[in-house]
Amino acid sequence: MALIHNLGYPRIGAQRELKFAQEAFWKGLESEAELQAQAKNLRAENWAAQSALDLVPVGDFSLYDQVLDMSFTLGNLPARVEGLEGSELDNYFRVARGRSAKDSGCHCVHAGEMTKWFDTNYHYIVPEVTAGTTFALNADRLLGQLAEAQAAGVPAKPVIIGPVTYLWLSKEKDDSNRLDLLSALLPVYSQLLEKLADAGAEWVQIDEPALVTELDADWKHAFETAYHTLKANRPKLLLATYFGTLQENLQLACNLPVAGLHVDAVRGREEVAKVVDWLPQHKVLSVGVIDGRNIWKTHLNGVLEWLNPIAGKLGERLWLAPSCSLLHVPVDLDSEVKLDSDIRSWLAFAKQKLAELTILARAINEGYDAVADDLAANQAAIDSRTGSERVHNPAVKSEVQNITAALGQRQSPYAARVAKQRTRLNLPLYPTTTIGSFPQTPEIRKTRLAFKKQEIPAADYTASMKAEIEQAVREQEKLGLDVLVHGEAERNDMVEYFGEQLDGYVFSQFGWVQSYGSRCVKPPILFGDISRPKAMTVDWIKYAQSLTDKPMKGMLTGPVTILNWSFVRDDQPRSQSCLQLALAVRQEVQDLEAAGVNIIQIDEAALREGLPLRRSEWKSYLDWAVESFRIAANGVKDETQIHTHMCYSEFNDIIESIAHMDADVITIETSRSDMELLDVFEKFEYPNDIGPGVYDIHSPNIPSVEQIVELMTKAAERIPAERLWVNPDCGLKTRQWQEVIPALENTVAAAQVLRERA
Ligand code: GLN
Ligand code: ZN
Repeated sequence: MALIHNLGYPRIGAQRELKFAQEAFWKGLESEAELQAQAKNLRAENWAAQSALDLVPVGDFSLYDQVLDMSFTLGNLPARVEGLEGSELDNYFRVARGRSAKDSGCHCVHAGEMTKWFDTNYHYIVPEVTAGTTFALNADRLLGQLAEAQAAGVPAKPVIIGPVTYLWLSKEKDDSNRLDLLSALLPVYSQLLEKLADAGAEWVQIDEPALVTELDADWKHAFETAYHTLKANRPKLLLATYFGTLQENLQLACNLPVAGLHVDAVRGREEVAKVVDWLPQHKVLSVGVIDGRNIWKTHLNGVLEWLNPIAGKLGERLWLAPSCSLLHVPVDLDSEVKLDSDIRSWLAFAKQKLAELTILARAINEGYDAVADDLAANQAAIDSRTGSERVHNPAVKSEVQNITAALGQRQSPYAARVAKQRTRLNLPLYPTTTIGSFPQTPEIRKTRLAFKKQEIPAADYTASMKAEIEQAVREQEKLGLDVLVHGEAERNDMVEYFGEQLDGYVFSQFGWVQSYGSRCVKPPILFGDISRPKAMTVDWIKYAQSLTDKPMKGMLTGPVTILNWSFVRDDQPRSQSCLQLALAVRQEVQDLEAAGVNIIQIDEAALREGLPLRRSEWKSYLDWAVESFRIAANGVKDETQIHTHMCYSEFNDIIESIAHMDADVITIETSRSDMELLDVFEKFEYPNDIGPGVYDIHSPNIPSVEQIVELMTKAAERIPAERLWVNPDCGLKTRQWQEVIPALENTVAAAQVLRERA
């Protein structure tokens, strides 16, 4: 009998109930007791949705973040929240977001750093450690949830983050080595496991996804030490790995002294046979066969065909599960009543994925006949998708086939281009610009919503957006900026805006996924070959350019960013979808150029975050990602200036690829690093123009002229002044005009000072 279980369920609720409860609490509109009661309801609903499983995850629910939960369980809190008044939950939210609820006084502290959870778009709060960090068990949250589950008759399997991955995710706040803390950490894990066993947990899922990354010898050794220490404990441990293959860590993972191992059989199907060979006879193997990172139906017959021999070998030792926690997919497809019915029939969200798991287990345990109808229905959906004309567009496929290296090549090298561009644009030294968006005011949002709900006609909507654009242009002229933008008033989101206009994309209504805390994103669904039925931005930009004699930047989102912020096809490599997007963006670039737009910016905010977990796979990703950008951008004349923007500052290990993109100007985030992050550009002798951000747009603080001059002076020590631009770190859509205007006044004044000094 194969057993079925789950690694984690989305905690936000089908209608984002958690978000609204969190935010009501933070605003002081709800008490802690009310928040906890809503959380309890959500847990009960989630367990009910998983009632067909043999083992149900408990402790995967979180009021903010599962890594922060683990820090609290281990008693590892930053010293800055010690001794503050209020409840433990107040402190929890202080670490999470700098403050708790409105009515618990402003014990504002700086929030913990947030970073991406492996290669997902989920952000966790980075545990902070120092040489002096001590740990002390606080198991109340987990034991409380376990008791709650047991009272509801749930076959509970507590979920925790394993000790090695916990340290791997942590960051030293001094020059110590976090691995040295392992010996202090393990006794706390031992106590925790004892308590869980005492409370009746037979199995505990211990997540160690660090095992799918490249590990140094000391980290591998830490796994040995940790699990040889923990093996004396009573609950059976299911060691969970996910998000990739084990590769050189496979033997290590198979041989750790635990009762079971979970592997990701979506990303690592080819490796499963090897795991079966290596895994000692007494261990359970949990095979993650349902994709926890994407929204497509599983091809059940295909999985069964592959799984059957494995099931035969393993018998009772086989468990089935999704590949990873379902945290990364939306909750329930049943909510999507408006979605195109063809496409809907191809999808499965968290709830539907668990139903697939049940069918698989029944097919294996009871024979295919027991679920013949379900398998047939699934096969019909798979066939409908595979054969659909809506998915496959032969013209697009042949265009991608015909791509040659020449398509990504500018006519002349940068030095020749820049001379022509300077003559044409006639820009001063230290030209000033912004990154694209201006404040998305409540009025803009209201108008867009009214238009979406068809409460106002298209003509009214267009007129209001034009008025916004005109206002943005007038403000920029008053400020004296050199290169203007239209302000992106008409854009809800930099990816959604393009997805909505491209063939091959659909949008869900409730397909939310947690990004961090109460913030959820609704990734568009890239389901088919991509094409651009008509120009997407040209009218807006042409209108903006008509208002001014200053150069106006055409503003686009690049193919890699559109891809990385979408749910994408699993029936072709990501690189193929990216090249299709590149061809569509290229058409837009050429239309803008033909419309007389002399500067075109193509944002690649998410290029870096698409990097694979393993460094050995970076090159192949960067090759097709950079090629996609080049195809999108580089089909223009020498005189047309291409900008790109990236809102991060770690370029150390990808500088060569960045240079190969060959954008005439790159604007990046640098203000918080004091321009030190330009070192890598200097060392590499990065040849093109750079606009290092001079102030942090996330903060309401107004930078002074002196601060900006000082930063740019540091920049000019690294990059020749002729190649420097002056601009903020990123777009200004989240700010208010009363913050934007003084900040930009000072930016322009600083550029003036710099020019006079040059
Ligand atoms: N052009 C976009 C803006 O200004 C860029 C945003 C981003 O990089 N995240 O909003
Ligand atoms: Zn940015």
